[in-house]
Amino acid sequence: MSNICVIGTGYVGLVTGTCFADLGNKVVCLDIDENRIEKLKQGIMPIYEPGLEQLVAQNVRAGRLSFTTSYPEALKDAEFAFIAVGTPSGVDGEADLQYVRAVAEAIADHVDHPIIVVNKSTVPVGTGDWVADIIRKRRAGRPLQFSVVSNPEFLREGSAIHDFMNPDRVVLGSLDREAASKVAQLYLTLRCPILITDLRTAEMIKYASNAFLATRISFINEIATICEELGADVRQVAIGMGLDKRIGPAFLDAGLGWGGSCFPKDVKALAHMAVLHGSNPQLLQAVMEINRNMRRRVVMRLRKALGTLNEKVIGVLGLSFKPNTDDIREAPALELIHLMENEGALIRAYDPQAMENARPLLPKAILCASPYEVAEGADALVLATEWNEFKQLDFERIYHLMRNPLIMDGRNLWDPEHLRSLGFTYFGIGRATNG
Ligand code: NAD
Repeated sequence: MSNICVIGTGYVGLVTGTCFADLGNKVVCLDIDENRIEKLKQGIMPIYEPGLEQLVAQNVRAGRLSFTTSYPEALKDAEFAFIAVGTPSGVDGEADLQYVRAVAEAIADHVDHPIIVVNKSTVPVGTGDWVADIIRKRRAGRPLQFSVVSNPEFLREGSAIHDFMNPDRVVLGSLDREAASKVAQLYLTLRCPILITDLRTAEMIKYASNAFLATRISFINEIATICEELGADVRQVAIGMGLDKRIGPAFLDAGLGWGGSCFPKDVKALAHMAVLHGSNPQLLQAVMEINRNMRRRVVMRLRKALGTLNEKVIGVLGLSFKPNTDDIREAPALELIHLMENEGALIRAYDPQAMENARPLLPKAILCASPYEVAEGADALVLATEWNEFKQLDFERIYHLMRNPLIMDGRNLWDPEHLRSLGFTYFGIGRATNG
């Protein structure tokens, strides 16, 4: 059993803290957002993540998990301080490290015993050294015994608890092997490969992994666009490719492209790092450009099919950047909606979990209570996020509700033949279609 403090209670911090508590450690989760901590104390989750509410309640009840806004309280007995604050994009695409800096300073100000600082936030290569430097300088007069370990997080929103508990690997980077081994102990019960590297290599593994996954999606999307032109079906192409063990089937789903709180900012930050150090990240630039084009292309196809988007009613199913989360950061749906609204389209939209988050960003759209309400009077229905509840809709009902039976299946979720047999015009992504 170890004493752990997790700083930042977002998707990563809250899941990390709760899972470490569930593994038998004593965990204090800290956030500077008082409202968030107040809610957590009442058992109300600030984010939607399947299974989280129950796991938090269980561990709070068992006395292993607590929440605070007080640094002294959170760090009092901590052997490990995990940093899990946001690292959003800055103006030039660089990672904004202001929150990480604030945490480093707080640790320097509030700890008086040996501590291991473990960084879970995704940070540019060299940040671990920078954090150590901040702490060292701030404690110039009264040195603090500490080590910094990089421990990038690979969990996916929507299956975060499962991913934390069943990782493909744990990566730990540090110049202090003993500190890295102590962090490794926390993960031993998960029985997964643990890779220990130097700090900078661990930081790079995270960026390289995300950039590679984004590249796979942009790759299949480029193939999808070519398929559309040449009359092939990208879904079968992906199956055929994925059966090759050297390629594998994951991350080969053509669609509206990647979004979310990680891929866009991380690919941008990696490209920024590369340029800053004299490299020319041509592949990363292309990966981002292909991704932007997927949204533009859908708008173009709708415009072509409807003559114009001006005053057309477009229904959008799904707002979160992927299913099973309420996270709308850089969601393809939102970008698509803004592009269509710029051309005068009137948007009706529905999402099972993300409406509350999306509402302030979509002041002009009508947010509906169900997919059927979205379809009412629509000239086209666009599937943006493949939530389970959209898999089996009553399309006969939808056909009668729509003004014009056009379906743009942005996630290749539905059966084109079935929809066409009901009278719909069906467009998919990279499927030999009439659009
Ligand atoms: P988030 O925005 O959901 O949460 C960040 C939290 O940190 C917020 O609650 C905020 O109030 C808090 N915070 C900010 N400054 C603070 C401070 N000084 N002291 C205490 N708390 C503070 O972020 P997230 O999605 O959990 O991501 C955190 C990091 O993990 C990012 O670097 C991200 O790139 C990385 N990451 C995210 C995911 C993911 O799926 N979301 C996956 C892997 C890695």
